[in-house]
Amino acid sequence: MSGISLDGITKRYGSDVLAVDGVDLDIESGEFVTLVGPSGCGKTTTLRTIAGFEQPTSGTIRIGGEDVTDAPPYERNTGMVFQDFALFPHMTVHDNVAYGMEADGGYTDEEIDARVAEMLELVELPEVGDRYPDQLSGGQQQRIALARALAPKPDALLLDEPLASLDKKLREQMQVELRRIQQEIGITTVFVTHNQEEALTMSDRLAVMNDGRFEQVGPPGDVYDDPDTRFVADFLGTANIFDGDVADVDGDYVSVDVGDATMRTVSRFDVDVGDRVSVIVRPERFTFADASADGGDAENAFDGEITFRRHLGSSVEFRLETSTGRELVVVRRSGSEDRRPDDRVAVSVAPDDCRLVNR
Ligand code: ATP
Repeated sequence: MSGISLDGITKRYGSDVLAVDGVDLDIESGEFVTLVGPSGCGKTTTLRTIAGFEQPTSGTIRIGGEDVTDAPPYERNTGMVFQDFALFPHMTVHDNVAYGMEADGGYTDEEIDARVAEMLELVELPEVGDRYPDQLSGGQQQRIALARALAPKPDALLLDEPLASLDKKLREQMQVELRRIQQEIGITTVFVTHNQEEALTMSDRLAVMNDGRFEQVGPPGDVYDDPDTRFVADFLGTANIFDGDVADVDGDYVSVDVGDATMRTVSRFDVDVGDRVSVIVRPERFTFADASADGGDAENAFDGEITFRRHLGSSVEFRLETSTGRELVVVRRSGSEDRRPDDRVAVSVAPDDCRLVNR
């Protein structure tokens, strides 16, 4: 298997559109990396430059250490799966999966049949070789598209929103399935999605893209817990974001005037009084304190009223409106809090559980 490295990849369309703006990324052999970001941020263009369907305006792409920047797609040995499956409707499943090997040439019929059978086993559809694509469900078609991409033993797998047209339940099953298959064969994978939940659950690392650049690259947990920018905090998962100005700096801690309160937060970078910043609090970081008790002594405390509550399975989400009119989101473990809409509550968060970012 092979790693992929992107070095200063820029892609312009004409003189107006800067789709990808100098991205660098080293993907290790066997790693599953997700490019995630809002529509139009440059994910697909980045993936297509790796596949060779787009030529970068500048920069270098290496697969397995070899410079493939100027190589056509068929010389790059990558397998690709798209959102719309694109199976050949007039061919059986067997012939669809065999297609890449037939096109490459150099295989006997026995070798092709054995490989097709192996791939159908891998995607857990060993019985469907004689069927046509329209005799399969959407999820099954997508597994066959994956089998087809993997049959010629590519060095890397490139996936462009492959689960986007599946319904939610099937999509979740396929997330698990895709990850299982990827790990079983240990293939280097680049996955494109605008779905932040998918990016968080599937990847070894994710690269959050915005405006043609990588805002942050790292393991899902790190990026979620320690967002580098306001954009990343806002895009990935839910965040309570308090915009304000630095009021005081005290060693590793910073006080921020957020208008209706002064919040104290740990900081990992240098700031000066007056800097425009945001304090980020993930919903799981808030804890409830009793409004009537000594909630007033807790740091970063807000009092308000619960406006909404919903179960998320293993946790419960609360929305509350503070006395200053702010909406906060708080998530607690299911069963740990018996609070209901209209209850008056106080919440607080420790300075070490807040994150400071520039704005
Ligand atoms: P989506 O999630 O909507 O697919 P994306 O993040 O994959 O978005 P890209 O498709 O990479 O975004 O597009 C990045 C930018 O480049 C967009 O502004 C898009 O309009 C522009 N773009 C993409 N392809 C072309 C093209 N062939 N000609 C001109 N502009 C293009």
